Amino acid sequence: MENLRFQVVEEAFKKKPLDVKVPAERPYEYFGKKVFNRERMYKYLPKDVYDKMIDVIDNGARLDRAVADEVAKGMKQWATENGVTHYTHWFQPLTEGTAEKHDSFIEHDHKGGMVEEFSGKLLVQQEPDASSFPSGGIRSTFEARGYSAWDPTSPVFIIDDTLCIPTVFISYSGEALDYKAPLLRALRAVSAAATDVCHYFDPAVKKVNSNLGWEQEYFLVDEGLYSARPDLLLTGRTLMGHDSAKNQQMDDHYFGTIPDRVQAFMKDLEIQALELGIPCKTRHNEVAPNQFELAPIFEETNLAVDHNMLLMSLMKKVARKHKFRVLLHEKPFAGINGSGKHNNWSLSTDTGVLLHAPGKTSTDNLRFVVFIVETLMGVYRHNGLLKASIMSASNAHRLGANEAPPAIISSFLGKQVSELLDHIENADKDQLALAGKHGLKMDIPVIPELLIDNTDRNRTSPFAFTGNRFEFRAVGSEANCASAMTALNSAVAEALINFKKRVDARISEIKNDPQYAAGTGHTAKFHAILDIVREDIKECKAIRFDGNGYSDEWVKEAEKRGLDVEKSCPKIFERYLDEKSIQLFEGLKVMTRKELEARNEVKWETYTKKIQIEARVLGDLSMNHIIPVATRYQSQLLENVENMKDIFPADKAEKLSARNIKIIEEIAERTSSIEKQVEELINARKVANKIDDEHKKAISYHDKVEPKLDAIRSEIDKLELIVDDSCWPLPKYRELLFIR
Ligand code: ADP
Ligand code: MG
Repeated sequence: MENLRFQVVEEAFKKKPLDVKVPAERPYEYFGKKVFNRERMYKYLPKDVYDKMIDVIDNGARLDRAVADEVAKGMKQWATENGVTHYTHWFQPLTEGTAEKHDSFIEHDHKGGMVEEFSGKLLVQQEPDASSFPSGGIRSTFEARGYSAWDPTSPVFIIDDTLCIPTVFISYSGEALDYKAPLLRALRAVSAAATDVCHYFDPAVKKVNSNLGWEQEYFLVDEGLYSARPDLLLTGRTLMGHDSAKNQQMDDHYFGTIPDRVQAFMKDLEIQALELGIPCKTRHNEVAPNQFELAPIFEETNLAVDHNMLLMSLMKKVARKHKFRVLLHEKPFAGINGSGKHNNWSLSTDTGVLLHAPGKTSTDNLRFVVFIVETLMGVYRHNGLLKASIMSASNAHRLGANEAPPAIISSFLGKQVSELLDHIENADKDQLALAGKHGLKMDIPVIPELLIDNTDRNRTSPFAFTGNRFEFRAVGSEANCASAMTALNSAVAEALINFKKRVDARISEIKNDPQYAAGTGHTAKFHAILDIVREDIKECKAIRFDGNGYSDEWVKEAEKRGLDVEKSCPKIFERYLDEKSIQLFEGLKVMTRKELEARNEVKWETYTKKIQIEARVLGDLSMNHIIPVATRYQSQLLENVENMKDIFPADKAEKLSARNIKIIEEIAERTSSIEKQVEELINARKVANKIDDEHKKAISYHDKVEPKLDAIRSEIDKLELIVDDSCWPLPKYRELLFIR
């Protein structure tokens, strides 16, 4: 019998890089070619309609029906000129990935002929029969109606023959059934809150944008090898596989030369992504073998989220074309690095100021300090929630697993900013005795404009300040960034609102105490801001941690500091239903209690299903791949032992067969251990499956089912070491990781 593994390995070795057709134009010329961006709107829409659309996009103005009809007309013209025949509302349900249902433009005309039509009504709203999307019980199947509504702030784009319209997806009763709706609400909240605070420094600010620059990590595996691994195929990760003797220990992959086949894939991907308006900037090899990264230039958060979703689906498509499969799972291989998606996040004003970047004047720097500190306040107050926002069954393998961020949210600020905050905090003590008499001397030291001190970038921190932004590193490679961005922007919005309230109160106090600011050369406002900032620097100190996030001491220390140290994924999800989280989201009108409860049902259910599938796949592979192969090899050895007896005298035969007998025994022990544990696994599942409550069921899967996966795997991995390589059916780690 031919071993499939050897066939696919042989074919993989023969594969050549694909020839990629490079456009004749330069990248800046084909950038956004497939996007109905402002330039195209200007060209395809009447002037007044264009102006109205810009008002809708920039200022959230209402879109009336007549305008929508005109916009649809222009869009359709542009689309048909580009060979488009279909359109779809493109949305982000609570599953992984995006959803689309294509309809063609064709309609009957009243004479029985055919025309192509696209109205404002179809552009603005649709009712996909969406009863099969997860809703956490918000929409029972007999009330299956959910509708998708156009998000004009994210431009429509063309994929193949289809015009894709970014939309939110909402239940008939108005609850969000997707990732985008809460995100848009959170972005509106943070913009309003930050704009108010900006007015202390610059009354001209009209709007604040939230920015996101994600860095997408991924693995590529040859298609043939992938298809010979049922675990990869069905779960996105390897459920077994012994370490390759060489993996990432030489550090020779990181930033190494990109292999030709991969380079061709990247080139193809980038061209297509650029055409879709995704500003791809960086590509490189990552730490683990066959692991890579792509990062665009940062964009407004909602657009960046859409672009990331789009890129992930584009990656899958282009990878297939190049006879690869892309693995977006956070931990496809044990023993080497997993993949994350660092979310570089900042706020900026419509006047062009990055609020997390220091400036030239002391006012600029006070503003900088305010935004750093209030970001920390939000992250501190909601650290458990932020962890919940990035948690998933797959990301759980990466967090707290001695790589990338631990399962504790803390923030690294670097030496300069830490010293600055300490200085401001301690200046308070020095001045206390003088307060009231001389007031406070404004003493914010000069901060260099360029703060990026690469020397002490702390790779172990889940939320690190990196010069003019924070980098939320705990986000998973497979995740929709919207989840993290909704939580983060909401948390910061709340902190800014509280800040503003307290500063305003303090300004009144100071104004009633003419002594306070006298002789300091600063206004009451200035003193008030500084006073509250000082309070907050003290308050949120526990979130600041510049040490090694991987160490055991940190876990103990974090617990002492009152940070959330929970490790169990289903329990981490509980943070969404803490009273303070519900107050946060309801207060900002981001999500209601009912929406939060429903979404948690979905989270727990998804968690359970993932572990359930992994358990079934591992059980099946154990019984019908591993045990049979090991047993077959064991029979060969037995035969050999028997044959020895025919040729040699008994005592000599026994001596010569000692090694084989040892292996025969080991195989017998390990296979029976596997069998026993698979049975236990099945029983644990049966017990869990009987639980109705999704929350408790997920906990049971986490506590009782999941640990068995590791135990079984460890037996299989040991068998892999002793069973004849030529019988082993599944491509090994060295093949999956080093062939490209
Ligand atoms: P790293 O050194 O962390 O790998 P990269 O340069 O690969 O950094 O990626 C950094 C990402 O952060 C890019 O997407 C970049 O555009 C983005 N970025 C840079 N400045 C900001 C900012 N102020 N706000 C948000 N994102 C930013
Ligand atoms: Mg980074």
